[in-house]
Amino acid sequence: MGGGDRVWYTRPVMEQTWTLKAALDWIAEDLRRRDIPSPRLEAELLLSAVLQTDRLYLYTHFDRPLDDAERGTLKSAVSRRRAGESAAVIIGKKEFWSLDFEVTKDVLVPRPETETLVEATVDRVSAPSRILDLCCGSGCIAVALATEFPDAAVDAADLSGAALSVAASNVARHNLAHRISLYEGDLFDALPVGRAYDLIATNPPYVIDAEINTLAREVRAEPRMALDGGPDGLAIIRRILSDAGAFLKPGGWLFIEMDPRQVPVVARELGPRCLGVAGDVVPDLAGRERVVCLRLPV
Ligand code: GLN
Repeated sequence: MGGGDRVWYTRPVMEQTWTLKAALDWIAEDLRRRDIPSPRLEAELLLSAVLQTDRLYLYTHFDRPLDDAERGTLKSAVSRRRAGESAAVIIGKKEFWSLDFEVTKDVLVPRPETETLVEATVDRVSAPSRILDLCCGSGCIAVALATEFPDAAVDAADLSGAALSVAASNVARHNLAHRISLYEGDLFDALPVGRAYDLIATNPPYVIDAEINTLAREVRAEPRMALDGGPDGLAIIRRILSDAGAFLKPGGWLFIEMDPRQVPVVARELGPRCLGVAGDVVPDLAGRERVVCLRLPV
């Protein structure tokens, strides 16, 4: 009799209650040790995505324990982040222009520099009726412009069918299928013959090919075709500039995002040579020259 009938369970360490606060602190510290930038923010993004809440919820529920399923999902998200995937791809979404976008490994993750491109169009163009987003990827520019210019019809084109499927779900998510048309193909070849635009906006691949290997791991994990701009980064931009004139209405605008080192060449040499006009330059939030705006004579 006595103690022999009793079974004593000892909780292993991993079974101890893990609160949201403990999980956040642990992930942030783990990412910080791996030199991942903004570790606390990334920890918040991963944890709130696993819990399907917003980030504020984490702070108002610090003491809430994680259940086993949540812990399992969180562990696999953290190990993908450690292995170099971006939080956006793990979570499957990214905010751009204050709108939510679906992202996958098939598209470039929308970036703040590209908000500079959208802003440059909004500041300069009024009431365009036809807009083109060339190299649309996730469709973030097309959706942002359709939102800003509610009377415009928007075309969006990309060489990647996989990227266009992501764009299609973003167009549907924002209820813009009636105003945004997607086309698959090589730059302007993708488009219906004879189409002319008031506004063309593009974030083409512009990274110098020899520099791709020097980029952050998360960037190298993005589709190479969305980044590779050839030996001087200008290969696609040159092709866009040489064909754009035929697809712009008189007085039409072309906005191109690029590497700051490419800006002087595009604004002062290629713009005048291909379109007969010099470009106006817009810096990004970090103060680097990022977007060239070119307008055909009216
Ligand atoms: N801005 C991207 C970068 O992080 C490049 C995007 C592009 O090539 N369009 O390098």
